[in-house]
Amino acid sequence: MTTWVGTSWKMNKTLAQARDYARTLAATDQRRWRGIQPFIIPPATALSTVSEVLGPRSPILLGAQNAHWEDAGAWTGEVSVPQVADAGAQIVEIGHSERREFFAETDETVNLKVAATLRHGLTPLVCVGEPADVFARGESVAHVLRQVRAALDGVRDTSGVLLAYEPVWAIGSGGRPATPSDIGEVFAALATEWGGAVRGVLFGGSVDPSNAAATLGVDGVHGLFVGRAAWDVEGFVGLLELVASR
Ligand code: PEP
Repeated sequence: MTTWVGTSWKMNKTLAQARDYARTLAATDQRRWRGIQPFIIPPATALSTVSEVLGPRSPILLGAQNAHWEDAGAWTGEVSVPQVADAGAQIVEIGHSERREFFAETDETVNLKVAATLRHGLTPLVCVGEPADVFARGESVAHVLRQVRAALDGVRDTSGVLLAYEPVWAIGSGGRPATPSDIGEVFAALATEWGGAVRGVLFGGSVDPSNAAATLGVDGVHGLFVGRAAWDVEGFVGLLELVASR
């Protein structure tokens, strides 16, 4: 089975930095990544540059960090699914906890964006995850299943959907890396409810070389979604090689 390994650069990198990263990646011996599906999610400004540098035959998929549910119109500051597809995106990340917390993303807008992404033939990467207080109360499974059900409500064919379980308490520089026992129950519940119905379920939140293999060892984890540890191309290549050598 394919193991997904991808990174979102969030709001980082100039065009020159994006080009350098993509050039190094394109020059790396990619035969060593057998069985792995790598992906990069640059900021929207760098999508077309990264796409051009990687070229049309690259095995690395590209994604956008967000896209609006309408195809076009008076939505100042937004980009649409057709626009990010035009710039080279094959994946659209939807519902990251930073978008939910700081940009008023709701279960409803996540659901609209999933539908728009599928309508245009791209892959939605739907991020879900509970905050620390929900985890502390032992209610992670209910919280995550509710978010996934809302995101995929009304979607007749979910087989093109990727899910990323990203507990809010594990994400970013203030996050606590998750142990396999922290996340096992949620992955078991996701496997029971969605296992055969989606393309894969990834884990994200403070993943780095010290915990990547153990995380992938959790039943139901089909890949890693990485932030900080893959913002340097050497970090991303190191993770790809670590995963390939398991
Ligand atoms: C994220 O924010 O989705 C993420 C996985 O970040 P980090 O790896 O830096 O915790």
